[in-house]
Amino acid sequence: MGSSYFALSSAKVSSRDYDRGVAQSIDAHLGPAGSGAPAKGGATAPGVGPLPEQSLDALVTILNQIRLEQSLSRSELVARTGLGRAIVAQRIGELIERGLVREGDVGPSTGGRPPRQLMFRADAGHLLVADLGATSIDVAVTTLDGRILGHQAEPSSIAVGPERCLDRVAELFDDLRRSIEPLPGRLCGVGIGVPGPVEFQSGRPIAPAIMPGWDRYPIRERFAARYGTPVFVDNDVNILALGEWRAGVAMGHDNVVVLKIGTGIGAGIISDGRLHRGAQGSAGDVGHIQVVDDPSVVCRCGKLGCLEALAGGEALGRAGEAAAREGRSPRLRAALDQQGRVTAQDVGLAASSGDPVAVAILQSAAQLIGSMLASVVNFFNPSLIVIGGGVANSPDHLLAAIRETIYRRSLPLATRDLLIQRSSLGGLAGVIGASAMVIDQLFAREAIGRWMEAGGLAGR
Ligand SMILES: [Zn+2]
Repeated sequence: MGSSYFALSSAKVSSRDYDRGVAQSIDAHLGPAGSGAPAKGGATAPGVGPLPEQSLDALVTILNQIRLEQSLSRSELVARTGLGRAIVAQRIGELIERGLVREGDVGPSTGGRPPRQLMFRADAGHLLVADLGATSIDVAVTTLDGRILGHQAEPSSIAVGPERCLDRVAELFDDLRRSIEPLPGRLCGVGIGVPGPVEFQSGRPIAPAIMPGWDRYPIRERFAARYGTPVFVDNDVNILALGEWRAGVAMGHDNVVVLKIGTGIGAGIISDGRLHRGAQGSAGDVGHIQVVDDPSVVCRCGKLGCLEALAGGEALGRAGEAAAREGRSPRLRAALDQQGRVTAQDVGLAASSGDPVAVAILQSAAQLIGSMLASVVNFFNPSLIVIGGGVANSPDHLLAAIRETIYRRSLPLATRDLLIQRSSLGGLAGVIGASAMVIDQLFAREAIGRWMEAGGLAGR
């Protein structure tokens, strides 16, 4: 087994990570809790039944220790969890019986008989994940610790609507599953990221500006019906934040803002060691903070003066195109002549090659973004800001100007140890994050209770 994406994460795993609304998705798959009904497709495993609260607490603690640390011996578990030796042994027996943990290699001896290491069975099942962008689809199959077994990306417009887009996602899922040999265990969950606001409990997009036809579309129900497995949906920015936090540059930080600058602008927030989605799931929608009082700046959300309308990818492309048409930048003019339009990427490339007009466009966007982030820093006091998304990938000018504005405009105490870094996961951030989202939900306390009751992830 290769190294785990999530094993090194110091992320806390607590019952707070679990969203009650999501229980429906797991319950729909397992049958009603406490019904004692055998799991679909097989008899109930021996000894299976609801665990008393205290036993479940111990079991969750032990499983998550083994899961996040990759491997531990029984005595290490006793030392780390403060649980009694007999309780640890009993819970481990249950986890082995249900196929979630196995005995691995013999660990280093401390004098007596060398201890057996306990390993999380990341190959007890697999996950299907998709990251839908405004102009692309990324799909992947991962293990239960987020390792990517297969990945495929292709250009696709989200504006073709949910039917065509999700049909294509399902085709790609099925192709990918067929191509992986051997495919570990059975399918345990599906995770989907979309480029718009999502009500996390229902898994439905809510009035997404760049996703015509997707408003309240039942993404979860559609995939649950097809695959008979729990399905989780979130917006692309939360997923990016989870990916960076579990497996990227934000590992080990408890308070992080992950800003995505792409076609739109949005932030994912890790607060006190958990993803903060807010009351309805719209936390971090910073692209629609008003930054100018100019009636001519109309945002696609219908409001005036939004950050996104001035500093998002489309705005940068428009500013570049205007400069090209007015003859202020020969480089951007060349891009316009060649493609018939100028994109944010062209502006980034021109800036990288020293074009002063392109540099100025990026700098004014960076100042607006930096001012917004300075307010966020004063309000939220993160230890790390991660800048990701297509626009952020190009030139250093943008990051440097954002950084300078944040330091200039924030309070000294809030910036004393503040790090500002580029996203580290590149093109895989979305699928890694979507996998982390599913894993967080599947291994939350309440969910583990349900799985155990039904015989474990692999016991069916
Ligand atoms: Zn707006």
